Amino acid sequence: MNDRLHTIRTRIEAKAGDRTVDLLAVSKTRSADEVRALAGAGQRAFGENYVQEALAKRADLADLALSWHLIGPLQSNKSKEAAATFDWIETLDRPKLIPLLGKFRDPRSGPLNVLIQVNVDDEASKSGCRPERIESLAQAVEQEPTLRLRGLMAIPAPGDPGRLRRAFRAMAGLFEDLRAQHPQVDTLSMGMSDDFEIAIDEGATQVRIGTALFGPRPAR
Ligand SMILES: *Cc1c(COP(=O)(O)O)cnc(C)c1O
Repeated sequence: MNDRLHTIRTRIEAKAGDRTVDLLAVSKTRSADEVRALAGAGQRAFGENYVQEALAKRADLADLALSWHLIGPLQSNKSKEAAATFDWIETLDRPKLIPLLGKFRDPRSGPLNVLIQVNVDDEASKSGCRPERIESLAQAVEQEPTLRLRGLMAIPAPGDPGRLRRAFRAMAGLFEDLRAQHPQVDTLSMGMSDDFEIAIDEGATQVRIGTALFGPRPAR
């Protein structure tokens, strides 16, 4: 098995204890061959930031049964391609996208899994909804038969470990509130290469890891 993948899996399992924490391999800027190599080592779920890049890679790797997750911002003029290319949209953060994704998702492809992206440290970041908007977005997602509400995602602003931990803990609280209203939600996506262990401590069910798996990202 790939050494980095093995190391990351071991670190995830050590923190997760008897919970299951899924690893999303963030493959933005990586070639289809690099994705293929990691898939050969057993990795199935990949995260991409750009719709076009994912579309091209998915086509190159059509012979593999992989799960593709959009983790970059979604523009409404890309919602048709996004609904056709991805298995998961992790960055739903405004109402306008919901009927578009619902309409463009071909029911024959199965439901499109959706995470609501939350702006957990208010001013700091421009993407993600405010926490008080989560419930209305969740209800709108549930109106669309081709969409499936799975949970929440966050990208806290970089900071010291204490600050990050507070952000992850706040997300876990919001996730519990959501689950009280929508018992089927099962995914809390938070934590990246530098902070995933803190995120798991605080209740992440999915971590999104790029550089610690593939090495430093090449400049674009
Ligand atoms: C790039 C990216 C990651 C992975 O970051 P690393 O620090 O390379 O692990 C995770 N989540 C999102 C949303 C990203 O854009």
